[in-house]
Amino acid sequence: MPKTVGVLVMEHIAVGLVEDNKLVGSIQLYPERGTSLDALQAMPAEGIGECIRQQITAVAKGEKIHAIGLGFPGVIRNGVVEDSPNLHQVKGFYLQAALSSSQGAAAAPVRVFNDADAMAAGIAATRGKLHKLIRVWTLGNGVGFGRYPWSEGVWEGGHSVVTLDPKEKFCGCGGLGHLEGILGHRSIRLRFMDLEPDEVFANARTGDARCSEFLTLCHRALAAATATSIHMDGPGQFYITGPNAKFIDIGLLDRYVHEMVKMSPLQGSRFEVIPTSDEVGVIGAAVNAERAASATT
Ligand SMILES: [Zn+2]
Repeated sequence: MPKTVGVLVMEHIAVGLVEDNKLVGSIQLYPERGTSLDALQAMPAEGIGECIRQQITAVAKGEKIHAIGLGFPGVIRNGVVEDSPNLHQVKGFYLQAALSSSQGAAAAPVRVFNDADAMAAGIAATRGKLHKLIRVWTLGNGVGFGRYPWSEGVWEGGHSVVTLDPKEKFCGCGGLGHLEGILGHRSIRLRFMDLEPDEVFANARTGDARCSEFLTLCHRALAAATATSIHMDGPGQFYITGPNAKFIDIGLLDRYVHEMVKMSPLQGSRFEVIPTSDEVGVIGAAVNAERAASATT
């Protein structure tokens, strides 16, 4: 079975060697655990590319590599990072070319995917669902939307418009009424200047009116974006992951989706919250790259 390298860039760079949809050995992290995203945010685009290249070489250890897959936050098209709200300096950077031009292990074909798409592929691979349609919401500073099987497109589901209220203006992209403007970590902090997101949801549980109202809004917003995806792409399994997935009540979400999706052929979607894991994203990036490489040879 050919070996593939998977890379996931989220709060750090995680790299692993993947064979037969499973991780071989351990994951290499840069910067090491415990440090923050600041190290990447302070780095120029070329520096991030170089850093990823070094990690790939270290993980490949001179083995023959069939393909290299990267999951990267932002709008990725044809190997170019067209936009990346949390790593502004890479906007317009041709990441795929920067990595392809290197020697050794990295001479293998490189493919860059959106990080949430890599998560979706990893979930499919680690749960034996590579024949199924998998969608995933990643709830963190922003809201990511991933889909497996990977297909050409933008898929910025986190920026789905879920309200026509012109006062809903907290999305990091500046657009009005977006899901991320309600459920994104940064947006919650902007809305509740006096409370951290953890406190908002804790207060909602103890009956605070303002926080309870917001909890309802969050679940209705996520349900609305999910309903739009169901109306466009059909029903199926949705996973919710990322640091803020802990705020989601699956029962409540399920109820709101049922109120929003009524056509009988579109019934039957299911939700599951799963823990955030570098391993799943690394495997997914590798699986997507492997499939893309196999399709072109
Ligand atoms: Zn937005």
